[in-house]
Amino acid sequence: MARSIDTLAVHAGEPRDKAHDSLVTPIILATAYPFDDTDELHRYFRGDYQRGEEYGRYGNPTQEVAEAKLAALECGPEGTSALLTSTGMSAIVTTLLAMVKPGMHLVITKDSYRKTRVFVREFLAKFNVEHTSCEPSVAGIESAVRPNTRLIITESPTNPYLNCIDLAALASFAKANRIKTLIDATLATPFNLQPLAFGIDLVVHSATKYLGGHNDLMAGVVIGSKPLIDAIREHQGMFGALASPFTAYMLIRGLKTFAVRMRHQNESGLRVARFLEAHPKVEQVWYPGLESHGAHAIAKRQMRGFGALISFAIRGDLVAGSRMVDACQIPFLAPSLGGPESLIEQPALMSYYDKSPEERTALGIKENLIRLSVGLESADDLIEDLDQALAKV
Ligand SMILES: *Cc1c(COP(=O)(O)O)cnc(C)c1O
Repeated sequence: MARSIDTLAVHAGEPRDKAHDSLVTPIILATAYPFDDTDELHRYFRGDYQRGEEYGRYGNPTQEVAEAKLAALECGPEGTSALLTSTGMSAIVTTLLAMVKPGMHLVITKDSYRKTRVFVREFLAKFNVEHTSCEPSVAGIESAVRPNTRLIITESPTNPYLNCIDLAALASFAKANRIKTLIDATLATPFNLQPLAFGIDLVVHSATKYLGGHNDLMAGVVIGSKPLIDAIREHQGMFGALASPFTAYMLIRGLKTFAVRMRHQNESGLRVARFLEAHPKVEQVWYPGLESHGAHAIAKRQMRGFGALISFAIRGDLVAGSRMVDACQIPFLAPSLGGPESLIEQPALMSYYDKSPEERTALGIKENLIRLSVGLESADDLIEDLDQALAKV
């Protein structure tokens, strides 16, 4: 019987019988895993003997459990595998380095995570990997594709404008053109969106956000078919950007409440977004759960819920936005998202401080834009707090 995501979050990936009859998955800190004798070593390297780990950089048993749980949550086809990494960025970088070849071209959508774009634009370009940056839509992606395009990188929803890509259309276009697809679905999480079911090849998440869920660990994950993940894992063994056994344990622990947290955050996200949309000091709200959002129809079709990240423009300038942010008593002024504590920030300052107002406008980052990650507090309390803070605009 197929289990619900609530049950998978608690039990998936964890053997029922654990070492020392422990109820919870133990943290195994060993850096090496001895062989019984040389015969076992021969059998292991010939591939006719399955055993656990060999050396710590190639993985550890706690990491393996976290990977099995994450793969199960993604609900992909039979054989779906996951690779845990030290951060979301190391998942993206390791994946891209495993997939690119000199002379190939890749397509990346414009409002993708800034450091992903920087990696493609400034690092991969040095190795003769070309790219085109395009509008975050299937039409935008199609028009950017060239004969040597081998990979499409996108996000759904995107940051900060929460654009959603029609994944079924994207996957069928990419497959027809023999192009691999990579989606950063950090903002959606597998609770709200399961891209592999639409035929997307690889999903990455910053597990630092909703998956870890407590603003206290950094990790990343890439999920897809076993052959693809095995190839990326080979590179991981070289680069060594691995999550520690302790981090893997913290992630397993955080995931126990994943479905409960996401359900609450979806509900609060929608309520806060509706409150902001109706507020006279607010010019526009970007949240895929709102009918007014350009991608609402796509989001509604392919997502279970719409998450808890909201962007909104106030009727005021950058300084008025700072007054509002500073007046908030519940959300902290900080980057990141997805944890229990609500976080608020002005993208123009937090992510684009180094740019001039003109450059920010050219990049589509509005001066009056505010990004709010709704946490696990009561939505009523948050709304009351935001209301008093908006009075300062
Ligand atoms: C945070 C984030 C990342 C990077 O993850 P780290 O864990 O900080 O390396 C990548 N993509 C998105 C959408 C993110 O929000």
